[in-house]
Amino acid sequence: MNTEATPHCAALGFDKDRIRQALSLLGLAADHKEEAAAINLLTEFIAERVDKIINSCLAVIAGSDDFELIERNIGTEAFRQKWKYRLRSFGKNFATPGYFEERLALAAAFAHANIPLGALQLPSFLIQQSLIDNLLDKSDFNADKTRILLCTILKLTALDLYIAAEGYHLPELNELEEKLDKLRAEASRLQERTWTDELTGVMNYRKLMESLEHHVQRAERRGQERSSLCLIMSDLDFFKKINDTYGHMVGDLVLQHLARRIKSATRDFDMIGRFGGEEFVVIMADTDLELAKVIAERIRLGVMSTPFHIKKFNIHVTISLGVAMLKPGESRESLLERADAAMYEAKRRGRNCVVTTKEM
Ligand code: GH3
Ligand code: MG
Ligand code: MG
Repeated sequence: MNTEATPHCAALGFDKDRIRQALSLLGLAADHKEEAAAINLLTEFIAERVDKIINSCLAVIAGSDDFELIERNIGTEAFRQKWKYRLRSFGKNFATPGYFEERLALAAAFAHANIPLGALQLPSFLIQQSLIDNLLDKSDFNADKTRILLCTILKLTALDLYIAAEGYHLPELNELEEKLDKLRAEASRLQERTWTDELTGVMNYRKLMESLEHHVQRAERRGQERSSLCLIMSDLDFFKKINDTYGHMVGDLVLQHLARRIKSATRDFDMIGRFGGEEFVVIMADTDLELAKVIAERIRLGVMSTPFHIKKFNIHVTISLGVAMLKPGESRESLLERADAAMYEAKRRGRNCVVTTKEM
């Protein structure tokens, strides 16, 4: 019996009672036939084949997605030694805290190294398979003994899988994970703040330009036929007059309402940014000029159809929009300039209208 301190067992409440409970759940009992069967397996099926079994396990794992993680965070040699040791002690003293402790510690180490539980459990399955294959190959066995050994292999593998899963739930790991979650959430809140226009909640200028660059490059990579990129440049009509009539504060609220109207007229994946004071841009990936014009019209109608109800005022607002589609090899600046020119053409034509670069 292992009498060493067992910190992982203690942290998870694995005292003798709980260990007994876990074993009986899996149909294992220390004073039962499984103990003898485990020793039988060790001497007859494992001792001579440790290297062979581990090598074939590693060959399978080497083809899995997690292998790179194991290599980087644990090291292949350490992994191999650990599993050799585990195999040499397969089922040995499975009812002791020492057995649980050793497996819980390994699971904790894997969890700390950010390796998925499945990667820890995979060798258990592979070893199980290898032992069963060997057992069934051995033709001189009587049926009763084979059945007992088979059941023992399955139960002991189930026990290892169970302990591994428990080891991933160590309280200190959960605390660490919770702290990391909070930090991640905080970081993403901060990042969102640096990307968002405070007044209207849409992308700010910096994020807008970054996003546009990203989409210009994506369209370039994928080719125009497969991925056309369109841009709407919009500008409120006579906004100065709104400020003059109702005051700057109301003007700010108009901009907030406007951003919401634009959002509800566009699709979920369209990206809206504030380009300047009362100029908003919509980036539309995988959209041709005709469809972009339809969406621009929808924005125009969405703005003009219902007056903005702000502080008991009903403010009639209209918007002018220019639409451009990215040309092969074109820069984001040039695309913005052409959409801006189309928007100015809409102003020139009397405002409250949409003009595409094709119509100029
Ligand atoms: P039009 O575009 O139809 O030619 O006329 P306009 O009156 O809208 O002219 P312009 O676009 O040149 O004017 C923009 C005005 O928007 C000027 C500025 O006072 C106002 N503005 C810019 N940013 C803000 C803001 O954040 N809040 C408020 N309330 N007003 C702003
Ligand atoms: Mg303007
Ligand atoms: Mg304006």
